[in-house]
Amino acid sequence: MCQENTLMFVPQDAKSFTQEQLARWLGQYGIAPYRAGQILRWIYQRGVYSFSEMTDLSKDLRQFLSERLVISQLETEQVQTSKDGSIKYLFRLKDGQHIESVLIPEPGHWTLCISSQAGCGMGCKFCLTGRGGLVRNLESSEIINQVCAVRDDLQDPSSLTNIVFMGMGEPLANYNSVVQAIQTITGNNGLQFSSRRVTLSTVGLAPRIDDLGRDVKVNLAVSLNAADNDTRNKLMPINRTYPIEMILSACRRFPLPSRRTVMFEYVLIAGVNDAPTDAERLARLLRPLRAKINLIPFNPYEGTEFKRPGEDVILAFQKVLLDHHYTAIIRHSKGGDIGAACGQLRAGSELKAQRSRLKGQED
Ligand code: SAH
Ligand code: SF4
Repeated sequence: MCQENTLMFVPQDAKSFTQEQLARWLGQYGIAPYRAGQILRWIYQRGVYSFSEMTDLSKDLRQFLSERLVISQLETEQVQTSKDGSIKYLFRLKDGQHIESVLIPEPGHWTLCISSQAGCGMGCKFCLTGRGGLVRNLESSEIINQVCAVRDDLQDPSSLTNIVFMGMGEPLANYNSVVQAIQTITGNNGLQFSSRRVTLSTVGLAPRIDDLGRDVKVNLAVSLNAADNDTRNKLMPINRTYPIEMILSACRRFPLPSRRTVMFEYVLIAGVNDAPTDAERLARLLRPLRAKINLIPFNPYEGTEFKRPGEDVILAFQKVLLDHHYTAIIRHSKGGDIGAACGQLRAGSELKAQRSRLKGQED
């Protein structure tokens, strides 16, 4: 007798499959592989959550799939809107962990900042996400479902055009799931985002930058945050393993489409990395690359010893880079009032703190 009839089995998540894997899964039941693309288009392009809605599949096939697969979605626990229009989503995962995504308004469209891990294990000293350590890697379906949930929530889903991996976690430390998620986000039978509008930001895991360039098409952003190894070692412990020169050589090898650049993010912290000499050094470092620079004034949070530099210092730093003919943008991150700005995401601890405050009020 077939094992399936005798054993209780947990239905698999259709969103955990690539098209190839789904085709193979269907194949073992004698179902034509082209059905995989058809099913995935229903899921990602028409946004259905039930096989019964897939009206161009036979009734028998729909029934068969409903008995064996589920189509997962995230549970939205909270949505907060900032004064500046950005919207923070708090999602609860099936094991009770929490993650956040931030929808950022841009002229004429939205950008969604998504998480790749619950927490982060990289321990950057200035980053609130890093303070709580790594809770766990996200599955590819949990990454994809952030996009699905937010798109379902938008009046005009086509207004969501850009995806950035700049939320919680280090995407290249969860490599396989992140690559699979990018494939679905940009795939023809997936969410169909243009790969020119998907950006992955990394702390600089050099060997993985090479892998990424080989495996998928995506824009690369690197959180450099210092122009010398001494300062970077102090701010970002991972720099002791992958120092600046290693990261920059990986960036030079990264396959860039014509007229594209690598984006370097630089968090400006008062008295730490914000001197004009730091800017000069940064300009020299990046000269061999096609580079753009995003200057992010430090976003303060409770309990940090770091400070944001004054506006004059920020502008002076930018001027040095502009004088060296770089595109250097000051990115005043959005959503500071709701803890949605760069480096402020901390879903787990925030909620625990809220709960204990509530508990305190009850007592
Ligand atoms: N782990 C990846 C993806 C997260 S992106 C990475 O670090 O690149 C988060 C961005 O916010 C990074 O560029 C990081 O340097 C920046 N950041 C972290 N804490 C910040 C803070 N308190 N203020 C401003 N930017 C911060
Ligand atoms: Fe992790 Fe990025 Fe924060 Fe560093 S800056 S702790 S890598 S999320």
